[in-house]
Amino acid sequence: MFISLESLLRLGWSFGKTVVKNRLVKAPQLPRVLAQYGPDGMLSATPGDHETLVAAGRCTHCGRCDVRALETDSFTALGPRGPRAFVQGVSRRPGLDGTVGPEATAERLRDLSRHCPVEVPFVALAALVRRRYDEHRALVAPMVVRAH
Ligand code: SF4
Repeated sequence: MFISLESLLRLGWSFGKTVVKNRLVKAPQLPRVLAQYGPDGMLSATPGDHETLVAAGRCTHCGRCDVRALETDSFTALGPRGPRAFVQGVSRRPGLDGTVGPEATAERLRDLSRHCPVEVPFVALAALVRRRYDEHRALVAPMVVRAH
Protein backbone atom coordinates (compact mmCIF):
# COMPACT_ATOMS: atom_id res chain seq x y z
CA MET A 1 0.00 0.00 0.00
CA PHE A 2 1.36 3.37 -1.00
CA ILE A 3 0.59 6.53 0.98
CA SER A 4 1.79 9.75 -0.55
CA LEU A 5 3.72 12.27 1.48
CA GLU A 6 1.10 14.89 0.68
CA SER A 7 -1.67 12.70 2.14
CA LEU A 8 0.35 12.15 5.29
CA LEU A 9 1.00 15.88 5.67
CA ARG A 10 -2.67 16.72 5.17
CA LEU A 11 -3.73 14.06 7.66
CA GLY A 12 -1.18 15.29 10.20
CA TRP A 13 -2.25 18.90 9.69
CA SER A 14 -5.94 18.04 10.24
CA PHE A 15 -5.15 15.96 13.31
CA GLY A 16 -3.01 18.74 14.80
CA LYS A 17 -5.70 21.35 14.11
CA THR A 18 -8.37 19.21 15.80
CA VAL A 19 -6.23 18.53 18.88
CA VAL A 20 -5.25 22.20 19.31
CA LYS A 21 -8.83 23.42 18.71
CA ASN A 22 -10.27 20.97 21.27
CA ARG A 23 -7.69 22.08 23.83
CA LEU A 24 -8.25 25.80 23.32
CA VAL A 25 -11.99 26.01 22.66
CA LYS A 26 -14.14 24.57 25.43
CA ALA A 27 -17.54 25.62 24.09
CA PRO A 28 -20.41 23.76 25.77
CA GLN A 29 -22.00 21.32 23.35
CA LEU A 30 -25.40 21.02 25.04
CA PRO A 31 -26.97 24.20 23.55
CA ARG A 32 -25.97 23.04 20.07
CA VAL A 33 -27.44 19.58 20.64
CA LEU A 34 -30.70 21.06 21.95
CA ALA A 35 -30.95 23.52 19.07
CA GLN A 36 -30.44 20.65 16.65
CA TYR A 37 -32.76 18.06 18.21
CA GLY A 38 -35.25 20.20 20.15
CA PRO A 39 -37.60 20.53 17.14
CA ASP A 40 -37.67 16.71 16.94
CA GLY A 41 -38.88 16.37 20.52
CA MET A 42 -35.75 16.33 22.66
CA LEU A 43 -36.59 18.06 25.93
CA SER A 44 -34.22 20.47 27.60
CA ALA A 45 -31.71 19.58 30.26
CA THR A 46 -30.35 22.06 32.75
CA PRO A 47 -27.19 21.56 34.81
CA GLY A 48 -29.20 20.69 37.94
CA ASP A 49 -31.43 18.04 36.31
CA HIS A 50 -28.96 15.20 36.62
CA GLU A 51 -28.42 15.86 40.31
CA THR A 52 -32.19 16.00 40.90
CA LEU A 53 -32.82 12.71 39.12
CA VAL A 54 -29.94 11.00 40.89
CA ALA A 55 -31.36 12.17 44.21
CA ALA A 56 -34.81 10.83 43.22
CA GLY A 57 -33.15 7.54 42.37
CA ARG A 58 -32.14 7.18 46.03
CA CYS A 59 -35.79 6.56 46.97
CA THR A 60 -36.08 3.26 48.83
CA HIS A 61 -39.88 2.88 48.64
CA CYS A 62 -40.10 3.26 52.39
CA GLY A 63 -43.45 5.07 52.11
CA ARG A 64 -42.80 7.70 54.76
CA CYS A 65 -43.71 10.47 52.33
CA ASP A 66 -47.07 8.76 51.73
CA VAL A 67 -47.70 8.60 55.46
CA ARG A 68 -46.75 12.27 55.86
CA ALA A 69 -48.99 13.28 52.95
CA LEU A 70 -51.91 11.40 54.53
CA GLU A 71 -51.24 13.12 57.86
CA THR A 72 -51.32 16.54 56.19
CA ASP A 73 -54.32 15.72 53.99
CA SER A 74 -52.30 16.24 50.79
CA PHE A 75 -51.94 12.70 49.48
CA THR A 76 -52.99 13.57 45.92
CA ALA A 77 -51.01 16.81 45.63
CA LEU A 78 -48.42 15.04 43.45
CA GLY A 79 -50.89 12.78 41.66
CA PRO A 80 -53.59 10.26 42.53
CA ARG A 81 -51.14 7.56 43.67
CA GLY A 82 -49.31 9.70 46.19
CA PRO A 83 -45.79 11.09 46.53
CA ARG A 84 -43.95 7.75 46.60
CA ALA A 85 -45.49 6.75 43.27
CA PHE A 86 -44.69 10.21 41.94
CA VAL A 87 -41.02 9.79 42.78
CA GLN A 88 -40.86 6.24 41.47
CA GLY A 89 -42.94 6.69 38.37
CA VAL A 90 -43.39 10.19 37.12
CA SER A 91 -39.86 11.28 37.83
CA ARG A 92 -38.50 8.57 35.52
CA ARG A 93 -40.23 10.25 32.57
CA PRO A 94 -40.40 13.78 33.90
CA GLY A 95 -43.12 15.81 32.29
CA LEU A 96 -44.32 13.25 29.76
CA ASP A 97 -47.03 11.62 31.86
CA GLY A 98 -48.45 14.78 33.37
CA THR A 99 -47.64 17.81 35.37
CA VAL A 100 -47.77 18.83 39.01
CA GLY A 101 -50.76 20.88 40.10
CA PRO A 102 -50.75 24.07 42.15
CA GLU A 103 -51.78 22.15 45.29
CA ALA A 104 -48.19 20.87 45.43
CA THR A 105 -46.92 24.01 47.07
CA ALA A 106 -43.26 24.57 47.86
CA GLU A 107 -44.06 24.37 51.56
CA ARG A 108 -45.72 20.94 51.18
CA LEU A 109 -42.89 19.66 49.00
CA ARG A 110 -40.24 20.83 51.46
CA ASP A 111 -42.18 19.11 54.24
CA LEU A 112 -42.06 15.83 52.29
CA SER A 113 -38.30 16.17 51.82
CA ARG A 114 -37.86 16.75 55.56
CA HIS A 115 -39.70 13.50 56.27
CA CYS A 116 -37.81 11.51 53.63
CA PRO A 117 -34.88 9.52 55.06
CA VAL A 118 -32.82 10.04 51.90
CA GLU A 119 -33.96 13.66 51.39
CA VAL A 120 -35.45 13.31 47.93
CA PRO A 121 -35.66 16.92 46.63
CA PHE A 122 -39.40 17.17 46.00
CA VAL A 123 -39.24 20.90 45.17
CA ALA A 124 -36.61 20.42 42.46
CA LEU A 125 -38.32 17.30 41.15
CA ALA A 126 -41.69 19.03 40.85
CA ALA A 127 -40.05 22.01 39.10
CA LEU A 128 -38.37 19.64 36.65
CA VAL A 129 -41.67 17.88 35.91
CA ARG A 130 -43.51 21.18 35.43
CA ARG A 131 -40.85 22.57 33.10
CA ARG A 132 -40.64 19.41 30.99
CA TYR A 133 -44.42 19.07 30.81
CA ASP A 134 -44.74 22.62 29.48
CA GLU A 135 -42.05 21.94 26.87
CA HIS A 136 -43.62 18.65 25.89
CA ARG A 137 -47.03 20.28 25.45
CA ALA A 138 -45.53 23.08 23.37
CA LEU A 139 -43.87 20.50 21.13
CA VAL A 140 -46.76 18.05 20.86
CA ALA A 141 -49.66 20.50 20.44
CA PRO A 142 -48.57 21.78 17.00
CA MET A 143 -48.02 18.16 15.85
CA VAL A 144 -51.55 17.17 16.92
CA VAL A 145 -52.99 20.17 15.08
CA ARG A 146 -50.97 19.29 11.95
CA ALA A 147 -52.20 15.66 12.07
CA HIS A 148 -55.85 16.74 11.77
S1 SF4 B 1 -39.96 9.00 51.96
FE1 SF4 B 1 -38.31 9.24 50.45
S2 SF4 B 1 -37.38 7.22 50.31
FE2 SF4 B 1 -39.35 6.94 51.30
S3 SF4 B 1 -40.78 6.46 49.61
FE3 SF4 B 1 -40.85 8.67 49.95
S4 SF4 B 1 -39.39 9.51 48.50
FE4 SF4 B 1 -38.93 7.35 48.70
